Amino acid sequence: MKEKYILEVNDLSVSYHTYAGEVQCVRNISFNIEKGECLAIVGESGCGKSVTVKSLLGLIRPPEGEIKTGSSIRVEGEEVTGFSEKEWNEIRGDKIAMIFQDALAALNPTMKIGKQIEEVILNHRKIKKREAREMAIKLLEKVGVPEARKRSRQYPHEFSGGMRQRTMIAMMMANDPDILIADEPTTALDVTLQGQILELMRTFQQEKQMSLILVTHDLGVVAQMAQSVLVMYAGNIVEKGDVREIFYQTKHPYTIALLESQPSLMNDKSQGMHVIEGTPPDLLNPPSGCAFCDRCRFAMNLCKEKKPQFVECGNGHAVACWLYDEKIRACLGKKEGGRKE
Ligand code: SF4
Repeated sequence: MKEKYILEVNDLSVSYHTYAGEVQCVRNISFNIEKGECLAIVGESGCGKSVTVKSLLGLIRPPEGEIKTGSSIRVEGEEVTGFSEKEWNEIRGDKIAMIFQDALAALNPTMKIGKQIEEVILNHRKIKKREAREMAIKLLEKVGVPEARKRSRQYPHEFSGGMRQRTMIAMMMANDPDILIADEPTTALDVTLQGQILELMRTFQQEKQMSLILVTHDLGVVAQMAQSVLVMYAGNIVEKGDVREIFYQTKHPYTIALLESQPSLMNDKSQGMHVIEGTPPDLLNPPSGCAFCDRCRFAMNLCKEKKPQFVECGNGHAVACWLYDEKIRACLGKKEGGRKE
């Protein structure tokens, strides 16, 4: 029977062991992604987004990195957490690929662009070198690199930031993965280029019915690309749901603060930029209660003591916050939760 989800993550917890102690980077997160779906993972730096996607690529390496017992990652129904490096190499690039924020660091500076794409093609297909070379040029043309044949003989430092990101997309297209992870793919680019690169990724995603996991702190990019959203804070998912639910029926105080802190042309400039006061907790010693407690304007005594569990709010929308717990709501005498429109 065909699996409903191409990727299923259940109860994933990841730690890093440092001289100072165990950093609890990700704790008990669960999510799924369907074929052809775009899922965005949002949150501040250090919230666990990158560690989460590294886990999906088999890049958490012991002894420093540890995927905790009980964690499960299933790709097309197959459990991959216990995979050997050899097994990961077989699915990395082929089933799951990644586009990094810093294309210059991801490309080999000593190898010509065309050659790098050619190598990716040859790793996955049994074809002649000459055919792979022609294929690499075609891919560069497809992603909009002008004079592709000539430019395929250049080195990464001779390409602009936008061209390098296009090259990364060409390499990814050569792999033709089922799941693509894009970690802040447009952060280093100007707004015009951002739009072009996102459009390119969307076209390719739709053409191939590829699943896309977009890691970003830019909610504008999320609104443009994603169907569903995970909001992460201090290694936990605090809210998840359909993109419209997250934007228009926002529940979690952190998501509300995140939306308010986004720069917008519509913002009243006289009121200045909203910032989320305070800093995330130290994950060497995470709090026993809600991790957002010290920064939350709605915090109650209970929040400090007990970690909130997920509450379903309908339409696949779920939030981990005591404000939405039925008993607490009854105590507070509130009829309506969530963000006032
Ligand atoms: Fe704020 Fe409490 Fe909700 Fe945490 S559980 S976000 S502290 S109201």
